[in-house]
Amino acid sequence: MSRRTDGTRPGAARRKGVIALVAAAATMAATAGLAFAQDGTTTTTTPTQGTTTTPDTTPAKGGGGTSTSGGGGGKSGGGSVRLKAESAGPSKVFFYGKNRATYRYTISGDRPRNMKIQLVNRQNWRVIKVWRKDDLEPGSHKVTWSGNNRHGKAAKKGTYLFRIRTKRGADVDRSRTKGDDRSVSFFPDKFPLRGKHSYGDGYGAPRAGHVHQGQDILADCGKRIVAARGGRVQYSGYQAGGAGYYIVIDGKSTGHDYVYMHLQRGQRAKQGQRVRTGEQIGKVGDTGDASGCHLHFELWSKPGWYSGGHAMRTVTKYLRQWDHWS
Ligand SMILES: [Zn+2]
Repeated sequence: MSRRTDGTRPGAARRKGVIALVAAAATMAATAGLAFAQDGTTTTTTPTQGTTTTPDTTPAKGGGGTSTSGGGGGKSGGGSVRLKAESAGPSKVFFYGKNRATYRYTISGDRPRNMKIQLVNRQNWRVIKVWRKDDLEPGSHKVTWSGNNRHGKAAKKGTYLFRIRTKRGADVDRSRTKGDDRSVSFFPDKFPLRGKHSYGDGYGAPRAGHVHQGQDILADCGKRIVAARGGRVQYSGYQAGGAGYYIVIDGKSTGHDYVYMHLQRGQRAKQGQRVRTGEQIGKVGDTGDASGCHLHFELWSKPGWYSGGHAMRTVTKYLRQWDHWS
């Protein structure tokens, strides 16, 4: 699956040329002001456009409204904000994945408004992330999310809902909103072996002179191996008597290192390369000291692979979780 998440969705047909123009300009503005950088820095920027109107920073001072409306917030004499359409996708997203969660929304109104997008955990209704959108023009916009919470850490597994509010927190008019899916299922890691597989020796299995430090996953040679968690490829090397072709990835936003061994020689991720969760890093092989085609996988605790960390015996538990939802 290589669906682009940065382009305009083909299905989002727009009927009128005028609307298309406005939408295009708005999309550009939204792109320029994307509040989320992929590497986890959560900068909030305001979309700037050539035709910036004078910001009306106090919506409550509209036609006759003397701030008596309590929590009403964003409504003013200029009319309320109406949400015309919204959608979120893809339905399943992984932390720091190839396909980032994208929320697209179209608002109508007569002037720019101060809005915000909230990302809500549907289990406990906690807001885990906010994108502030000051002077947001009527039209179509989007935000993308690669899985960080507001503290820059990976969010927990769960279902997350995007919702648009006025800056003050009032809901928008959704009575005529098209689209009913504004949630995504989120997972922190992806099972690394794509294809039919079974579990072999786990952590602690006896080996000559030492114990097995990881989990073997048996599969045909040539099956795709993807990054269970994206990040920087710390090592991509070869060890004749042991690991064969192996890769160590410094997992993004976790202190853990992810280690893949006995890979086939060709098409491997290179040292220093940054890979996304779910991105192919190699293929199942039997290089090094391997009896038969399999992936030997290890997880290393902070500060990592042979630099003070240790191989984690919980590796099998994690793998089975990822296998279940991937
Ligand atoms: Zn092994």
